[in-house]
Amino acid sequence: MPGSKLSANRRRQEYDYILLGAGCAGLSLLMRMIRTGKFSGKNILLVDKAPKTTNDRTWCFWETGKGFFEEIVHRQWSSLDFLSDTYSATLNIEPYHYKMIRGIEFYNYCFHEISKHSNIELLYGQAGGMVHHKEGVTLILDDKELEPGRAIIFNSIYHPPPVSKRYIELLQHFKGWMIETNSPSFTADKATLMDFRVPQGHGTAFVYVLPLSATKALVEYTLFTKELLQQEQYDKELKSYIEDLLMIKNYTVSEQESGIIPMTNRKFPFYYDGAYQVGAAGGQTKASSGYTFQFIQKQSQQIVDCLVADKSLDTIPATPGRFRFYDNTLLDILYHKRFPGKKIFTDLFKKNKPRQVLRFLDNESSIADELKIISSLPTWPFLKAAIRQW
Ligand SMILES: Cc1cc2nc3c(=O)[nH]c(=O)nc-3n(C[C@H](O)[C@H](O)[C@H](O)COP(=O)(O)OP(=O)(O)OC[C@H]3O[C@@H](n4cnc5c(N)ncnc54)[C@H](O)[C@@H]3O)c2cc1C
Repeated sequence: MPGSKLSANRRRQEYDYILLGAGCAGLSLLMRMIRTGKFSGKNILLVDKAPKTTNDRTWCFWETGKGFFEEIVHRQWSSLDFLSDTYSATLNIEPYHYKMIRGIEFYNYCFHEISKHSNIELLYGQAGGMVHHKEGVTLILDDKELEPGRAIIFNSIYHPPPVSKRYIELLQHFKGWMIETNSPSFTADKATLMDFRVPQGHGTAFVYVLPLSATKALVEYTLFTKELLQQEQYDKELKSYIEDLLMIKNYTVSEQESGIIPMTNRKFPFYYDGAYQVGAAGGQTKASSGYTFQFIQKQSQQIVDCLVADKSLDTIPATPGRFRFYDNTLLDILYHKRFPGKKIFTDLFKKNKPRQVLRFLDNESSIADELKIISSLPTWPFLKAAIRQW
């Protein structure tokens, strides 16, 4: 099943499922479909603009026990450092484990599995949206048209909506260096979740450190702000963090990664424009943290469970409204700089048990947990932001 280029100008093929986007969401969904063994008689089309050949991202997330992608977890930690000027601690996050998956290993693993299934067709082309007409929709791929017929379409290609003053649009943006040293410089069984001891002049900023060994670690400088920085500014902050706070003077940079994750209080409809929207395009990015990987896994599992049970996908429950409200409230504070993000995260980790915080950030906390967490945060800024977001 090597990937093919779109050949005919107008293509009509009877697919049961079309997946637009072969990134985290498209591949997580397809891998789950494959694992059930229930879709081997179905024609599935997977579309992406280009083959996945680079390590374009590193995913971190937490979970208990073994997860669906356990085989390709590159490293995992159950101890995480949280550092700020006023509070520093090593958090024992058990029963959770903080896990790291390298993008390229994820892609290779998924495409290796997909290649064993002749019912899955892989097509490379630029998806240019849908044209609606009386008989349904037509997919535009490159300059060609594809009639989806009765296929159920899942879309994970994110088309940023036009900017609107009605919504908060904050950016989580980051740059990371994989650094290597000659002598032991890291504690390999402990990662740094957030180090807020970096200048906060641009807005909420922190560094995280993911050690792969005593001499190798991914050091990533992250900001939650409205504007991006110049490349030299990320480099300058990374350099001073490594040299002044990690006290490492001799090192080489073997890999780099950077990214932008939109953090917004927009609502993302599940069914839109003739397709079910999944992944970041379907609002699976947590607005207040940018974490997406585990939300994609949950959504993929819910979709596959529904398809297998022959239930309508519209029966999948939406995220409880109260979690959106919490996210939007924090987003409002960060966006309007009503209170320093550094102090909020410090209070969060200082005054609550790590597992409670992680459960809360996973949208899986109980109301009792949430009341405890809310009471640990500064009352006035949160109250004012909550009223605005209501
Ligand atoms: C560098 C980086 C690091 C991240 N780290 C984390 C992390 O540690 N933890 C976490 O929870 N989240 C993280 N995220 C956020 C989120 O998990 C990822 O963005 C994730 O990849 C989102 O999955 P997705 O399938 O929605 O989008 P993508 O994985 O981006 O997949 C979309 C796919 O659509 C394809 N595509 C785009 N446009 C077209 C087009 N016109 N035609 C055809 N194909 C197209 C792309 O090639 C891509 O394969 C990170 C994001 C980035 C960018």
